[in-house]
Amino acid sequence: MGFLTGFMEFARQDPKTRDPIERIKDWEEYTIRMEESQLQKQGARCMDCGTPFCHTGIEFDGSNVGCPVNNLIPEWNELISEGNWKHALERLEETNNFPEFTGRVCPAPCEGSCTLGINDDPVTIKSIENEIIERGFDQGWVVPNPPIQRTPYRVAVVGSGPAGLAAADQLNQQGHSVTVFERDDRPGGLLMYGIPNMKLEKGTVDRRIQLLKEEGIEFVCDTEVGVDITYAELKHRYDAVILCIGAQAHRDVPAANRDSQGIHFAMDYLKTSTKALANDPNQAEIHAGGKHVVVIGGGDTGADCVATALRQGCERVVQFGKHPASPEERDDDHPWPLYPMTFKLDYGYQEAVEAYQEDPRKYEILTKAFRTNEQGQVTSLETIQVQKVWENGRLVTKEIPGTEEIWRANLVLIAIGFTGPEQEVLNHFNLKMDERGRVWTVDGTQDYRTSEAGVFAAGDARRGQSLVVWAIREGREVAEQCHQYLIGESQSQTESINFS
Ligand SMILES: Cc1cc2nc3c(=O)[nH]c(=O)nc-3n(C[C@H](O)[C@H](O)[C@H](O)COP(=O)(O)OP(=O)(O)OC[C@H]3O[C@@H](n4cnc5c(N)ncnc54)[C@H](O)[C@@H]3O)c2cc1C
Ligand code: SF4
Repeated sequence: MGFLTGFMEFARQDPKTRDPIERIKDWEEYTIRMEESQLQKQGARCMDCGTPFCHTGIEFDGSNVGCPVNNLIPEWNELISEGNWKHALERLEETNNFPEFTGRVCPAPCEGSCTLGINDDPVTIKSIENEIIERGFDQGWVVPNPPIQRTPYRVAVVGSGPAGLAAADQLNQQGHSVTVFERDDRPGGLLMYGIPNMKLEKGTVDRRIQLLKEEGIEFVCDTEVGVDITYAELKHRYDAVILCIGAQAHRDVPAANRDSQGIHFAMDYLKTSTKALANDPNQAEIHAGGKHVVVIGGGDTGADCVATALRQGCERVVQFGKHPASPEERDDDHPWPLYPMTFKLDYGYQEAVEAYQEDPRKYEILTKAFRTNEQGQVTSLETIQVQKVWENGRLVTKEIPGTEEIWRANLVLIAIGFTGPEQEVLNHFNLKMDERGRVWTVDGTQDYRTSEAGVFAAGDARRGQSLVVWAIREGREVAEQCHQYLIGESQSQTESINFS
């Protein structure tokens, strides 16, 4: 504990954000890095409480509590409050392969379980994490660190999202030769073509990929396993295979006229927008410029669509959610140290409020049908208000008669989540699936073995749509299990030689 009474003397400060009206004119990150002296005070707010939940990453009452990668938060809070940033970086790198990603996009369950948060504002842990790694890059402390020795083993990682990258990094550090296969033209998974630039600039993803390449990891892009290279070939060429293919099978809206023009999945929209930024942002295949945009789905993907549509100059954007607005304060269902499900004005909503004087979120609303013109283009949506009621011991969604509405729309984005990994991809692999369509792994939370020996699965493909920080944790754990498998194989080979 750097400063005994820091939590009483300093108030929480969050990083400043760029002016909403200014920032919707570009695609740069919306947050501004905090000053060193400010952050040192924020680190000094940590009470080193003795039983910290912030770094536990445990499941509690059906919810996850604390940091899933078990970042050593109280330790680096103390180190940075004393100005010892390099030592803090060393401790951070022990648990998190990519703090520059989590420091920007993690929803920070650590802060939700910070002990100070019981009766005060929690420590601003995520911003401290981000600054530790960014100072590491600025100061030249983060440099390629290739393994000194190579083992004879070759590992194929399929998918280059955070789970695949973390697995590849860990196995490469163990000395194994790792090749990452990616079907997209650039590595990064949803870090590259999902999370928009305003939250995570793509130069930050490229910077890490470059480092991994210099450490010896091979990346093979534009290559879909199961199509461009068979799964059998992969298994033949590599000693182990790790599937980190994500969970990007779209959930659809079963409403009349769904097949009309102008209705797209959010992921297709976000991807084309990001791809267009490399050339001309106005040439995105799906563009919101001058349009009335309706986003169906009240989650974070929908929020990213709102922010993207604003930057493309939409006429108006609204976002439909099925649930009621979250409460201002923690309710009894989410007491500390669980993640607080409270009302937030995220970056895109703040921008909409400033630019259009309207929070785009419309709550408890259900899309019944799409209306089209003679050319088959969507022109509006028919909706109805809904509410959740208990019926025969079950919570069910009921429509409220007389609340029907028509919403003008010439671009509709569907952002109601994902059902699991894409089944067409999985058909090539002939692996056992679980009852929810995810890749089956041996029972137990930390077991990543699939139904085939030498084949492992991790990340969203195994746990369903989740978070970057969980993908990193799974990538780290699957790498350790794969390493044990390879080493075990080498030991059994040695034993058989000794016996003969
Ligand atoms: C729009 C959006 C915004 C999000 N924002 C956040 C956020 O702010 N914070 C947060 O923590 N989480 C966020 N998430 C969730 C987070 O991005 C995911 O949980 C995380 O990326 C999962 O990592 P992964 O490595 O398992 O899979 P992914 O990141 O999905 O990567 C899987 C990769 O596998 C590739 N692939 C699939 N099949 C094959 C094949 N057969 N051959 C070769 N390659 C293949 C895919 O192209 C993809 O690149 C967001 C998700 C979305 C959709
Ligand atoms: S990775 Fe997420 S949960 Fe862990 S310390 Fe960083 S912000 Fe908190």
